[in-house]
Amino acid sequence: FAPWNDPEAKPFIAIENVTKKFADFTAVDDLSLNIYNREFFALLGASGCGKSTLLRMLAGFEEPTAGRILLDGQDMRGIPPYKRPVNMMFQSYALFPHMTVEGNIAFGLKQDGMQKGDIEARVGEMLKLVKLERFAKRKPHQLSGGQRQRVALARAVAKRPKVLLLDEPLGALDKKLREETQFELMDLQMKLGLTFVVVTHDQEEAMTMADRIAVMDKGKVMQVATPAEVYEAPNSKFVADFIGNVNMFEGTAAAVANGKIDIAVEPENFTIRTDALKSCAVGQPVGFAIRPEKIRISRKQPADPSINSAHGEMWDIAYFGDMTVFHVKLESGRIIKAASLNAVRTVEDPLGYDDMVWVNFDTDAGIVLTS
Ligand code: ATP
Repeated sequence: FAPWNDPEAKPFIAIENVTKKFADFTAVDDLSLNIYNREFFALLGASGCGKSTLLRMLAGFEEPTAGRILLDGQDMRGIPPYKRPVNMMFQSYALFPHMTVEGNIAFGLKQDGMQKGDIEARVGEMLKLVKLERFAKRKPHQLSGGQRQRVALARAVAKRPKVLLLDEPLGALDKKLREETQFELMDLQMKLGLTFVVVTHDQEEAMTMADRIAVMDKGKVMQVATPAEVYEAPNSKFVADFIGNVNMFEGTAAAVANGKIDIAVEPENFTIRTDALKSCAVGQPVGFAIRPEKIRISRKQPADPSINSAHGEMWDIAYFGDMTVFHVKLESGRIIKAASLNAVRTVEDPLGYDDMVWVNFDTDAGIVLTS
């Protein structure tokens, strides 16, 4: 499933040069984005980056200041929320407290003038879908947070919108329930064959659920790609730093030859040699990003300690059960993060605090970043 790689595929949601200003503040800045039918799409970014504003423009609660939004090929300018093929689920769930679970799910269907028998059938189907058949007669205050979330979801999809917009859908749930519910959401999206656009500031959530992620900053999209791509091949220092853990180095391209780039890193004066996947000129300032799990630690000096190696002191060891994260402090004060899966044990055992160790990595382990 990768319609975004098909030049013939028509996007279901086309966001074209959309800007949203509140007085003189630009919340969304000349943003363009295509989202495809049946895609699970995540808008990811820190608080205030404009992701909710973008979602609200898709829903029709806000109009763009400039640019346009097409849904299924139709320009949405001036089309009110209830006439759009989308529905929105809010973080607060906004359930009616005096209505039962089935009453809440039926509400929108009644408003649409659906026949009583059809409503009953649809509500039954929705209750089954979110596994709440036994709770049909309960009121929201008699439900757990996770159950309320599922009622809100059932209500949002009951009218069979083509697109479901979800603003921080799992924000109110605790960590364990959130992780379970992520898989339920993915399952539901597959079963219903809907397009989901979810807003989240939680990168793990976005990585787990989404087919593609748009990483946003200051009203702009920094990168749109699959979870694996934003992690393995971030296009900028911002994305590399925002997604996952990373060791970031700033340096100067000292040599470019034979498909490799040598980067001189100050102040340690050590040399990073990396495969040249991007072209760059000698003397150009470049960044280098490497994930902690790509770094080896050893007490033994590597064969060629002048390249991709540094010597330092074991500063911190954090045990997470499935993995251990090591912090090695270089003489310059720079901390290098390395991580290893405990089941794999790529790090010799036992390494202790204050041990003097070498960190070392391969030429294909990191990414050169020029912006
Ligand atoms: P959060 O995760 O905190 O909700 P967000 O990325 O969803 O953040 P938005 O809610 O889209 O951010 O807001 C983007 C910016 O626009 C913020 O700085 C916010 O203060 C501003 N903003 C949003 N709505 C309005 C409004 N109605 N009037 C003025 N400014 C607004």
